[in-house]
Amino acid sequence: MNFLNSEQIMWRDSVERFVDQEIGREYIRQCDMDRRHPDEAYQKIARMGWLQLIFPEEVGGDGMSIFDYALMVEMLSKHGVDFGVAITLPTFTAMNIALHGTPDQKREYLQPFFAGELRFAVSISEPDAGSDAANTRTFARLEGDHYVVNGQKMWCSGSGIKNTVILMLVRTEKTEDKRKGLSVLMIPNTAPGLTIRPLNTLARRSIITNEIFLDNVRVPAGNMLGKPGDGWKIIGGEHLLLERVCVALGYVGAAQGAVSDALRYAQQRVQFEKPIFEFQVIRHMLADMQTQVDAARLMAYRAADMASKGEHCRKEVAMAKLFASETLQTVSRQGIQIMGGYGTLPEFDMERHFREGMQATIGGGTSQIQRTMIAQEMRLG
Ligand SMILES: Cc1cc2nc3c(=O)[nH]c(=O)nc-3n(C[C@H](O)[C@H](O)[C@H](O)COP(=O)(O)OP(=O)(O)OC[C@H]3O[C@@H](n4cnc5c(N)ncnc54)[C@H](O)[C@@H]3O)c2cc1C
Repeated sequence: MNFLNSEQIMWRDSVERFVDQEIGREYIRQCDMDRRHPDEAYQKIARMGWLQLIFPEEVGGDGMSIFDYALMVEMLSKHGVDFGVAITLPTFTAMNIALHGTPDQKREYLQPFFAGELRFAVSISEPDAGSDAANTRTFARLEGDHYVVNGQKMWCSGSGIKNTVILMLVRTEKTEDKRKGLSVLMIPNTAPGLTIRPLNTLARRSIITNEIFLDNVRVPAGNMLGKPGDGWKIIGGEHLLLERVCVALGYVGAAQGAVSDALRYAQQRVQFEKPIFEFQVIRHMLADMQTQVDAARLMAYRAADMASKGEHCRKEVAMAKLFASETLQTVSRQGIQIMGGYGTLPEFDMERHFREGMQATIGGGTSQIQRTMIAQEMRLG
């Protein structure tokens, strides 16, 4: 694929080498099996300076384009998209502070984040606010110079990790249009009154996804990101756009990993005195799988390129997220079929790709919601 210049190819290759030599698929697999955060790998990546790549130079970042950053996500995810998410979710959450924070907030949060000392999680969903994310009921009431927060959040990935600040979508005003009256508060996960309970999810096992209960949690008013009422603009727009570009490339990286593993297996596995790759039915399955991954990669590169240039790309990003997530789901299911019983064992990684593929079409906006957004943009022309 020649859409990358020589520097981009070198960058992508160097991330791939780093993942294979410094992290290794066994480590990624074990973190998933143990439901343990890949902390050692996260710290290695912090030491490489890769947590600050995408941030503007004014806040101490390297000013890397979204496209080049997404190339890193593609390679970080080759042995599992959840590993890529564990590394990048705090980054695209912290980007909200770079974009909307006050100078004091940027100073307080971003340098410790770049050093790997502070993490971020994003908490949008609630029991009654899933696809209908603006249906947020968790309420933050201003009392003097503090907000007092009560409610329940659902599905917050990475919120239980040490030294994590949660960027939480809360309601600060009851309004007729439910997208108004929403705000983002930065709440340390150790705040008194906040209880975090891990969920036994199918995927995201190494990051760990939690439900959060808030009982009179007091947060300084200075912990608000942007102005009261800015919540939907911050989270519903820019945050989700960057998240979806990044995860789309993550799904592509993992889907390529799944196809490469299935191909290797088919060439080595002998049944009826020949490698199963010699059976046309298996060969054609692999051909379809690689074709779909290449198509997903092209769509994801287009979306990342448009996002890098600041072009309106809501449709292209939704298409990339939709197609790449469904590709990961499809090729990992076919990968298990090609590997037979071995494909169902954790040691072969395909069942993890399959579980993570199931998560891919739900998290960050379901496939149905992506299709709705694509259709909305088509109607607008
Ligand atoms: C493991 C995991 C990790 C997660 N991590 C996070 C996180 O870190 N932070 C966070 O805020 N959230 C997180 N989420 C939440 C995720 O974003 C939501 O699960 C997702 O948005 C869907 O919401 P829901 O599960 O309530 O499903 P629902 O919204 O109830 O949807 C159920 C079904 O109805 C369909 N549907 C709903 N509305 C429509 C419509 N208008 N048109 C057509 N179909 C529709 C959906 O597509 C789906 O098929 C996570 C979820 C999981 C499972």
